[in-house]
Amino acid sequence: MVGMVDYHMHSILSDGQDTYEEMVWTAISKGLDEIGFTDHVCLKPVDWAIRLEDIPVMTEQIFDLKSKYQDQIKIRYGIEVDYFPGREEELKQVIESIPVDYVIGSVHFIGDWNFDTDQSLYGKWSNDKLYEKYFSLVQQAAQSGLFDVIGHLDIIKKFRVYPESNQDKLFEDTIKIIRDYNLVVELNTGGMDRPCAEYTPGPRLLEMCYRYHVPVTLSSDAHRAVQIARHYESAVYLLSQIGYTEIVGFNARNRRMIRL
Ligand SMILES: [Zn+2]
Ligand SMILES: [Zn+2]
Repeated sequence: MVGMVDYHMHSILSDGQDTYEEMVWTAISKGLDEIGFTDHVCLKPVDWAIRLEDIPVMTEQIFDLKSKYQDQIKIRYGIEVDYFPGREEELKQVIESIPVDYVIGSVHFIGDWNFDTDQSLYGKWSNDKLYEKYFSLVQQAAQSGLFDVIGHLDIIKKFRVYPESNQDKLFEDTIKIIRDYNLVVELNTGGMDRPCAEYTPGPRLLEMCYRYHVPVTLSSDAHRAVQIARHYESAVYLLSQIGYTEIVGFNARNRRMIRL
């Protein structure tokens, strides 16, 4: 979509299927103004994150492309980092060692369980309890001060798992913490292609974000070049229906506002 940003994309260095340069070509062909790569960085040894020893390779590749394509598109250096409670100091050291433009903090684990890929433990708790556990981790991630953006805010719904009772208070408490700690929420359009078939966050939570004055950015969570800026027309329409007139861009961990 012409003039837009896509702030969440994965390359072959983590669990994506295309190289950075292939993704840059696609982003240029789609008319985007700005993209941010955000390969997974995870303190646990998992096969879908970049190995910590390969981080300098990621840095070098992104810096090369930033200058090579500077006349055609702005390329930002982001990372998507898994939040683990109690490991803030280790996370801080890793993040501070990388010259990033922004950091997405995501919760994919409850304890050792990766609920994002492994469906075996759904049903262990009531869904209300599961939501409480998940959003409490999101709250701690926001309070850690480590991140600029909260990744896919309500990803716990991915496999169409929904709370038994109204959880508005839990959602509002979380969004107020996100605001108080000065974070940005991404409108991640990738959720549309997952079983939940809805943006993350969905319209209701996005509306709450607006009501509590939480700024947003826009992203596709592309794992392949063809997924860059997917579902953007309806996402931009939704944002403007809710009342958003601008989204956030990042450079060297500073923000600027971009008109929608
Ligand atoms: Zn994620
Ligand atoms: Zn991602």
